[in-house]
Amino acid sequence: MDRHFLTELKKRRTFGIISHPDAGKTTLTEKLLMFGGAIQMAGAVKAKRAGRYATSDWMAIEKERGISVTTSVMKFNYSDCEINLLDTPGHQDFSEDTYRVLTAVDSALMVIDSAKGVEPQTEKLMEVCRMRNTPIMTFINKLDRDGMTPLDILGDIEDKLQIECAPLSWPIGMGKRFRGVYNLHQRQLHLFQPGGQTRHQEGIVITDLADPRLEELLGSQAEELREDVELLEGAANPFELDQYLKGSQTPVFFGSAINNFGVREMLDAFVEMAPGPMARPTTTRVVAPEEAQFSGFAFKIQANMDPAHRDRIAFVRICSGKFTRGMKVYQTRIGKQVTLANATIFMAQDRSHVDEAYPGDIIGIHNHGTISIGDTFYEKEPLSFTGIPNFAPDHFRRVRLKNPLKAKQLLKGLTQLAEEGAVQFFRPLSGNDYILGAVGILQFDVTMARLKAEYGVDADYEPVSFAAARWVTCEDKKQLALFEKEKQASLANDSQGNLTYLAPSLWRLENAMEEWPMIGFHKTRDLA
Ligand code: GDP
Repeated sequence: MDRHFLTELKKRRTFGIISHPDAGKTTLTEKLLMFGGAIQMAGAVKAKRAGRYATSDWMAIEKERGISVTTSVMKFNYSDCEINLLDTPGHQDFSEDTYRVLTAVDSALMVIDSAKGVEPQTEKLMEVCRMRNTPIMTFINKLDRDGMTPLDILGDIEDKLQIECAPLSWPIGMGKRFRGVYNLHQRQLHLFQPGGQTRHQEGIVITDLADPRLEELLGSQAEELREDVELLEGAANPFELDQYLKGSQTPVFFGSAINNFGVREMLDAFVEMAPGPMARPTTTRVVAPEEAQFSGFAFKIQANMDPAHRDRIAFVRICSGKFTRGMKVYQTRIGKQVTLANATIFMAQDRSHVDEAYPGDIIGIHNHGTISIGDTFYEKEPLSFTGIPNFAPDHFRRVRLKNPLKAKQLLKGLTQLAEEGAVQFFRPLSGNDYILGAVGILQFDVTMARLKAEYGVDADYEPVSFAAARWVTCEDKKQLALFEKEKQASLANDSQGNLTYLAPSLWRLENAMEEWPMIGFHKTRDLA
C-alpha cells in the first residue's frame, strides 16, 4: 500500500457527540470547529440551533435541511489530524438516525451538564456505544455554574453508565468560585477566564502541589485542590489507554464550553489518544482500513430539498481503500455496479478541490431511492458490513388512511421510508393495521408529510397502546409456534417480515421474557 494512503489514513479521526439536549453539544461543537479553523461551519451550527424549535410542519423541516446537510458531517483539521465530526441530532430532531450515526464513528465524546449529571438520552446513546465498545472521552460542562460535586458526577457516570472514570483534569471550585482546572496528567494549572480565550492559554506548570505559588494564584482554594488531588490519588482510577480503547474506561475533562475553557485541553488529548479508523466486521470476514480495496456502508439517508424528485443523499462511511471521484463500485444488496460520479466529499473548509477520500471519511451519494440503510459498497470482493441495525422504537402510532383506494401507495411509501430509516412499520398478525414505530416522535409527522408530498397518500395517525417492541427469535420451532399462538394479539411482522413482539407495557415485556426463556427478545435487528 502506498505511503501517501497510510499517511492519510493515520490522520483520520471520526467521532460523534453523545449528550442530552441542553448539555452543551452545540456550543462545544462550535468551539471545536473554531479551533479547527472551520468558522463558517460554526455559523451553520448556530443557525441550526436557532431554528431547532421548528414546528412539526414539514416545510419548516425542509427549510432547515440546507443547513442540516452541511452539519451532518463537519470536517476540520487540527494538529495534523483530519477530524470528521458526525452530527447526532438531539432535541426535536432526535430519531433512529441519531443512534445509527454512532455505528459509523470510531469514538465518541460524551458531554455532561455538571448540574444534571447523567440524563436519559445520554444513557440511551451510551447503550449504542456499548454495542461496539466505542471508546468514549468525557467533558463535564458548565463548571461556571453551581452543580454536583465532581466526585458525585463521576460516581453518577460510573453507576448509571457502567464505565470507569479516569479524571485527567480536576476542577477548582465551581460557579462563582470556579478558578480553573488542574491537569493531572501534565501537572499544569489552567486559570479560568470568563468570556473565552481565543488563543491557547499556556498552563502554569506546578509539578509539586506544595508549591507556595498555589496560594498566590488560588488563595484559600489552594488547600482544597491539594486535598482533592490527594484523595484522587488514593481513590480514582489511573488512566489506562488500552482500557479507554476497549471502551471500559473514560478519560474525564472538566470545563465550560461557552467560555471556551477546558475545550482545547480535551481536543489535544483527543487527537493524541482517540483511535483512527478501526477494522469492521462483515458477514464473511473483518475488513482492515489499510486494505487497498474500497469499501463502505450507508448509515444515513436524507431526503433532499425537492420532494417531487425523491432525491436522496446517502451518507456512506468509508471503511477501507481510497475513494476517487467517478470510481465504479458494487452495491451488495442489488448486486449491481454503480458509478459514484456525483458523490459529495465532505471536506474541510480550506481544501476545495478534493477528489479523494479515505477510511474514516464520509461521502454523500445522490440517488433516487435506490440505496437503503445498511447497504455496503465494495470494489472487488463482495462484502456486507454488519452492525448497522434497526433500533427498537419507543413510540408507536396507528396509521389512518383517509382514502382507502390509496392502500397500495401507502404500502409502497411506507416500505421506501422504512428502507431509508425514516420510520419503521409493523403489521399485526391479526388485522390489517399499519403500526408506525419511531425513536423520536417528530418522525411521525415527517412520515405523514412525506407520504402526502412524495406518494400522494393522505393519512394521519392515532395513539395506540404499545410501549416497546422486540424482535423475536427462537431456534426451537415448537417453542416459537407455542409463543406465536399464545401471544398472537401482540405479534406483528416488521417491514421485512421479521416477527416482532409489541408489548403493551414494559412490565408485560419483562413478564413475557421471564415466561419464555427460550425466546430471544432483541432490541436491535441487523440490516445486513
Ligand atoms: P445542546 O442542546 O446540547 O446542543 O446545548 P447548547 O450548546 O445549545 O447549550 C444549551 C444551553 O447551555 C445554551 O443556553 C448555552 O448557552 C448554555 N451553555 C453551554 N455551555 C455552557 C457553559 O459552559 N456554561 C453555561 N453557564 N452555560 C452553557
